[in-house]
Amino acid sequence: LSIGIPKEIWENEKRVATVPAVVSKLVKKGFSVNIEENAGALANFPNKTYEEAGAKITSLKDTFQSDIILKVRPLVDNEIQNVKPEGTLISFLYPAQNQDLIKKLSAKNVNAFAMDCVPRISRAQAFDALSSMANVAGYRAVIEAAAHFPRFFSGQMTAAGRVPPCRVLVIGGGVAGLAAAAQARCMGAAVRAFDTRPAVREQIESLGAQFITMDMKEEGAGVGGYAKEMSQEFLDAERVLLGKEARTSDVVISTALIPGKPAPVLVLEDAVRDMAPGSVIVDLAAEMGGNIQTTKKGEITKVHGVTHIGLTDMPSRMPAHASTLYANNISGFLFSLGTNDHFHINLEDEVTRGAIVLKAGELLWPPPPPPSM
Ligand code: NAD
Repeated sequence: LSIGIPKEIWENEKRVATVPAVVSKLVKKGFSVNIEENAGALANFPNKTYEEAGAKITSLKDTFQSDIILKVRPLVDNEIQNVKPEGTLISFLYPAQNQDLIKKLSAKNVNAFAMDCVPRISRAQAFDALSSMANVAGYRAVIEAAAHFPRFFSGQMTAAGRVPPCRVLVIGGGVAGLAAAAQARCMGAAVRAFDTRPAVREQIESLGAQFITMDMKEEGAGVGGYAKEMSQEFLDAERVLLGKEARTSDVVISTALIPGKPAPVLVLEDAVRDMAPGSVIVDLAAEMGGNIQTTKKGEITKVHGVTHIGLTDMPSRMPAHASTLYANNISGFLFSLGTNDHFHINLEDEVTRGAIVLKAGELLWPPPPPPSM
């Protein structure tokens, strides 16, 4: 079977679905690999590194003629036209948000697997691209914050005086929030964090950060251990608490999300107005509406003297490592479907069933809910 890796054409996207080290593994398993010319260039993987790993450099049209297409971003119209009928596609697809794309792919009778739908169970950890990318985003959020923060992150004792450590508030302690807390700690900041799921406390404390507690008791963990929407009463109390915390923080990194829902707004403009001039907010929830009332999706703005970073392309800002991790996830998932001579779609397999969106054009998404315990 042949595998095609097209160049990503999404605006500002620098990642690529497969890196040379993973091409070698694919070739070893018997696949032939076609990579579009310059597909890895923006991630610092030039054509010759793919050739050395055993790939063929191909035109856009020839790349899409491969049996299996590996992609990062959901396909846009020009790309859909090129998809080979009855082929296989593995990519981030977000089927709930991209129903038109799914319909168009269905008309081509393709098999389509969404990396964002891979069940996050222990056995599938190696394919968990959402976690890989959230980890990169959390790390990069701290780097972006530090680059815009006009002070030291770490405390300093110098002959010219003492500098206190930067006070970082992390809102939401999922994969991105934990990565942000860990990185901010590494850089010497004093970190405080809050999450509605009580299980996060131990993880935050193990990083040497402080977990903020709230007087009001309400269970934050919902189906599958994911966060659930909190009551209005809880959110009102949380806004008061986080407003107070934000006012005494130099940097706020917010990552709070509820699967399939808009992000909860947790820090209001009043609190931002009271933050010290030069403070920085990175709102990783900006794509889903934002946790901070004053952030703008995709933009870096200054409001009330506070820099707001609403960028939605953090993983693409670290394209070499983000591509490497994604390539490991996507190739691991591909190998779970089989090898070059034994490739088949087993719908009895929980991971395959969770990730599949189309089988020969037939819509199989959403998967049936897991049997109740
Ligand atoms: P996410 O990106 O959906 O959400 C980020 C965080 O925001 C979550 O921790 C959530 O609790 C928090 N949040 C939501 N509403 C909030 C509010 N009002 N205030 C404060 N925080 C709020 O989460 P994620 O990073 O994708 O991970 C979520 C869950 O999935 C976790 O339980 C994680 O341990 C689990 N997970 C499991 C695996 C695995 O077992 N393989 C892999 C990855 C993640």
